[in-house]
Amino acid sequence: MNDCIFCKIINGDIPSNKEYEDENVIVIHDLNPLADTHLLVIPKKHISCADEINESNSDVIAHVFEAVSKVTKKLGIENNFQVLNNCGENAGQSVMHIHFHILSNKEGRVLWSTTELK
Ligand code: AMP
Ligand code: ZN
Repeated sequence: MNDCIFCKIINGDIPSNKEYEDENVIVIHDLNPLADTHLLVIPKKHISCADEINESNSDVIAHVFEAVSKVTKKLGIENNFQVLNNCGENAGQSVMHIHFHILSNKEGRVLWSTTELK
């Protein structure tokens, strides 16, 4: 996608603080971190939003979570992180290229809990 900021990062046209890369995904540090560790797992395939996942492209999601497992171990935050995906502007999505936030605070401080929604 020509005007997609994450496609530009994937193509190397915009610099990023890259933590991990393989043939399917890139993992970068978020420009405006909201936690002690704030990473973005970005599939290399341009898919706008999670509601576009279907049986022909759902392998992308498996690759995302394989990268989540690898990178959290690499950074020593395994067992202490949350994964967040926003789909749609009303849900807080600002970059229309599917991505998953990895958020982790030191000392196990949880960022938000599903119990808050109950
Ligand atoms: P979302 O609001 O879920 O679409 O998340 C988009 C995220 O991308 C935000 O947390 C931004 O801070 C982050 N972001 C935007 N541009 C860049 C960039 N050039 N490098 C790294 N992170 C970025
Ligand atoms: Zn894109």
